[in-house]
Amino acid sequence: MIEVLNLINGHEIPANNWLDIIEPATGQVYGRVAASGKAEASGAIMAATDAAESWRHTSVKERSRLMHALADAIESKLEEFTIAESMDTGKPVDLARTVDIPRGVANLRWFADSVLEFGTDRYETGNRAVNEVQHPPVGVIGAISPWNLPLYLFTWKIAPALATGNTVVAKPSELTPVTAWMLGQLATEVGFPPGVLNILHGLGHEVGSAIVSDPRVGAVTFTGGTQTGRTIAQATAGQFKKTSLEMGGKNPTIIFEDADLAHAIPTAATAAFANQGEICLCGERLLVHERHLDEVVEGLCEKASQLVIGDPLERGTQFGSLVSEAHRDRVESMTQRASSEGGTIVHGGKRPEGLPDRCRDGFFLEPTVITGLDMTAATNREEIFGPVVSIMPFKSEAEAVEMANDSDYGLSASIFTGDESRAARVAPAIETGTVWVNCWLVRDFRVPFGGVKNSGLGREGGQDALRFCTEARTICTSTQVASGDITRGAVPS
Ligand code: NAD
Repeated sequence: MIEVLNLINGHEIPANNWLDIIEPATGQVYGRVAASGKAEASGAIMAATDAAESWRHTSVKERSRLMHALADAIESKLEEFTIAESMDTGKPVDLARTVDIPRGVANLRWFADSVLEFGTDRYETGNRAVNEVQHPPVGVIGAISPWNLPLYLFTWKIAPALATGNTVVAKPSELTPVTAWMLGQLATEVGFPPGVLNILHGLGHEVGSAIVSDPRVGAVTFTGGTQTGRTIAQATAGQFKKTSLEMGGKNPTIIFEDADLAHAIPTAATAAFANQGEICLCGERLLVHERHLDEVVEGLCEKASQLVIGDPLERGTQFGSLVSEAHRDRVESMTQRASSEGGTIVHGGKRPEGLPDRCRDGFFLEPTVITGLDMTAATNREEIFGPVVSIMPFKSEAEAVEMANDSDYGLSASIFTGDESRAARVAPAIETGTVWVNCWLVRDFRVPFGGVKNSGLGREGGQDALRFCTEARTICTSTQVASGDITRGAVPS
């Protein structure tokens, strides 16, 4: 049994209250995690506040060095992190090894490097003045992350904050706390000063809410569900606190009549079922030109049936369990609702049979393909966040765009077409943060990431993340007043 403790001011702190840690692939408790509240949040925020002055004056090179040292340390324990991530989430171990953990390492490295180039901007105002725009850190940043990509998104939040000289109070999801805890131990080992990175565990409405509403926390970066984002925005708005919200999606994948189906079908299947559909960027709505409807439905079902469903800890497993019993039950009831709405489940919809003994009480659900519902169905409007795709036909380009935009969400979209001019027309017409053309989930650290409508507020990634974690302070110095002569007042305009 493992015990996951809070990291406050460089020390692991004994806990008073606990939550179970459950392995979703087996349904068994395998550890416990500190259930923190206001007192722990206050202690961590005090530690972060005390450490802020010294960390902001630590040279950027030294901050960058420590972040690379942390990345090295995680990399040297790739296998331990991989297994921990797979056990906590139910995701296939191969996915954790090739995507989650390497990407967590890469997040630390990219921000460690890019901050070295992120300096002061200088603008000359004719021959009258010089403006220097400095980017000091905000101070203490609260970082709240979800369970679907635990280390990947935890590092995505903390890396730009630490690199730019902020101290951090971070809270991973209570469902998947282990890799963040392991990261905290390594941060202490590689020499992060006490108080610079504090990691708190527990329930969102208890410790998470205490972090985001504390006035000593200058900015909040959140990734999670839209309803939680709304609650957090209400807590931070009154304090005029910088707030970045990365929230849910109901992303359309659009296959036009001129698409290369041999590429579009497998990519759409990956977009629907990767990580058991538990990625905010998954394509839950598949819009298909009516001419290709039958072929695409058949192709998606074939791809779904070929996925190797099994013990996530076994090499070769391609599709694991959902993250929790409650989430599996929710997704399952949403698929049942699709039937009651008049949809047809053409593949999946059930708990899989034939799983290994170890997994018989796990929270598995088959990859599921639904047809026959239009955009009025709740199935096509609410985020499911599971391995469920609903396929709908369209007749024209205009109708496809209208259906894509008929959503409260706007996180990402994928379009498949062989016609460049169509891509150039359709991509900017979709109300969303990212459009992939003939691909899905190709990510570049430099591009802004985020959503519109109920999917998000603000952008993270690249320079946007560095700017979010900093203020902009302009120092405008006259070049017309002789040095030392401050008696002549303002330069005439
Ligand atoms: P969630 O909103 O339930 O929880 C996310 C985090 O917020 C957790 O750490 C939770 O403890 C915390 N939290 C909950 N209530 C809080 C409160 N009142 N104050 C402060 N913190 C609180 O989301 P989840 O179920 O963990 O994740 C799934 C959701 O995340 C999906 O909607 C998915 O689309 C979204 N997501 C979005 C992105 C993105 O980049 N846009 C990425 C991954 C996941």
